[in-house]
Amino acid sequence: MKRFWIMGMALLLIACADQTENEQSDAVEKEDEEVELEVDEGEEGDSHLSKQDDEIEGTDPEDEMTNEEEEIEQVYEINTANWAVEPIEGEDVEEQVVLLTIDDAPHTYGVEMAHILADLDVPAIFFVNGHFINDEEGEQELKEIHELGFEIGNHTMSHPNLSEITEEEQMEEIVKLNERIEEIIGERPRFFRAPFGENTDFSNQVVATEQMTRMNWTYGYDWVADYQNAESLADIMVNAPELNNGANLLMHDREWTKDALEEIVAGLRDKGYQFVDPEQIK
Ligand SMILES: [Zn+2]
Repeated sequence: MKRFWIMGMALLLIACADQTENEQSDAVEKEDEEVELEVDEGEEGDSHLSKQDDEIEGTDPEDEMTNEEEEIEQVYEINTANWAVEPIEGEDVEEQVVLLTIDDAPHTYGVEMAHILADLDVPAIFFVNGHFINDEEGEQELKEIHELGFEIGNHTMSHPNLSEITEEEQMEEIVKLNERIEEIIGERPRFFRAPFGENTDFSNQVVATEQMTRMNWTYGYDWVADYQNAESLADIMVNAPELNNGANLLMHDREWTKDALEEIVAGLRDKGYQFVDPEQIK
């Protein structure tokens, strides 16, 4: 910028040298304008410098974006008939996989569960309820789970049965939570799970408009009285008759589920299952 100004002044001086008196006075006025212009530029100089700094910093996110694109390809999709995770046709990827999902988070154990899974290097989707992220503590918990690398899904604002409320209310339950989550973590959820697995034609439209992928689940047991202890829950989650390639496992932000997590992961790994990274799901 400075160099251009110097060049400009040099040209102006050359111009002045060839001018008649009248023209020279014009040139002086012009020079004044030039000086004013330069002062303006000078004032902007600082902001221009900081802009340059921004631009330098700005190269990092671009690199990161490029890396992200390179890192993770969407090679799986959700089968809407049984909610299983399946390789997209033509993709040569591991079929013996399961998807872990944690609903009704972040309530009491969500962050701890995220740390346990992160330590085990197991990805998962945390389906979040709006009423758990309405205060500072909830926000921080959501941020922490997200920063640990977990996918954040939409599980509605207040966990209603969508088939029992008006269309307007359904819209609010879904869209407002996406807005809220975006406010906190900077991105909107890509996945939606309806409370009680109760979707409606209208909520399906809203979910589609919000460009989310909808899913229920294959199996889960942590809300059944017999399995509300870590030992029984770990056993059934690993040995359930419904366990199959692509099984979509539903768990919750609960104490016994948290306590069973390590054993569930180990048991599924022993059986040869890998854990799908939600970022690989379309
Ligand atoms: Zn729920």
